[in-house]
Amino acid sequence: MPELLPRARASSESIFSQMSRLALQHGAVNLGQGFPSDAPPAFLLDAARGALGRWDQYAPPAGLPILRDAIGTDLGVDGADVVVTSGATEALNVLALSLYGPGDEVLMLEPVFDVYLPQARLSGARPVTVPMRLDDVSGWTLDMDALQAAVTPQTRAILLNSPFNPTGTVFTPAECAELVALARAHDLWIISDEVYDELYFGDKPTSFRTLAPERTFTVGSAGKRLEATGWRVGWIACPPGLAPMLAAIRQNGSFCAPTPFQVAVAAALPLARESGFYEGLRAGYGQRMSLLASGLRQLGATVFVPSGTYFLTARHPHWTADTLVRQAGVAVIPGAAFYAQHAAPDGLLRLAFCKSQPEIERALDSLSRYAVQTPA
Ligand code: PMP
Repeated sequence: MPELLPRARASSESIFSQMSRLALQHGAVNLGQGFPSDAPPAFLLDAARGALGRWDQYAPPAGLPILRDAIGTDLGVDGADVVVTSGATEALNVLALSLYGPGDEVLMLEPVFDVYLPQARLSGARPVTVPMRLDDVSGWTLDMDALQAAVTPQTRAILLNSPFNPTGTVFTPAECAELVALARAHDLWIISDEVYDELYFGDKPTSFRTLAPERTFTVGSAGKRLEATGWRVGWIACPPGLAPMLAAIRQNGSFCAPTPFQVAVAAALPLARESGFYEGLRAGYGQRMSLLASGLRQLGATVFVPSGTYFLTARHPHWTADTLVRQAGVAVIPGAAFYAQHAAPDGLLRLAFCKSQPEIERALDSLSRYAVQTPA
């Protein structure tokens, strides 16, 4: 019998799928996996209904021109520099396959979003992570000195995520300028995962592309912006002239993103902007974040209030993700799932607040009943 490669045998069910499965099994409220409870906006659904039956065949691998132009207009870049992908996940994979390979190193921050490490390894490169600092008073902070010290002659790229899943960090303009200076000093590509670019609670996040257009690839996701994570429409805004090369790599993956959903997203992007949809999204998530944060604090948790994304991180002296899903009826993600090369902060948990208000209230009720049953 032929044998599977070790890397195929080593692949296992992700913690997100595991927790969603355990949530179902234990009838728990699912604050684990980050998919919204709300339906996508009507203007997006209507556009998709109009496209089905009319736009059903292959699109060009770089994406439909109407969508590339809509993304370009939204981001302030030329549509010719945009490549449409099957979600941000594929966008990140196309970049991993295009920008580095055996012998190269890719810098990234820990806690790390789950696909970054395996994608870098599958490209043959070595992921090198630098931990974010965490303390109960200042929350999460970027350690620029540690990042500087981690650069070697083999470093090819730095992969950044702001707003940052899971920490909720939005890098300040000064931090962004320092990160860009680092990339320029060592001639690195910047892969900027900006899937949560419209989900912020304070100042608008700085896009790295605006500071270093010559070396930045911006990754985006219609799934995150328009609450349709299953539609699989994402994008890469490339430095000028590089989109055709990435499109050529990307055609060997899924070939093209689903055509009718590309048409729908092309119609929805300007509508979302003009109708104030993102302002509504931020206001709604801001309220749910405050509800969850204050509820958790009342139960004795230390909450690290996010500046963006729809996740918050927290620590509680007596909670673990495993006991919460089995005994408290609430599924969350253990912080350790985001660490591979450094130790995770003790007791760290990630909770998603892209769920309905009743679900968040139910989760807080269950947690307070659990707290009564298990006094410190
Ligand atoms: N990057 C980050 C930081 C994410 O949190 C996610 C989704 N959880 C993705 C990329 C993938 O996005 P998509 O669903 O568009 O593939």
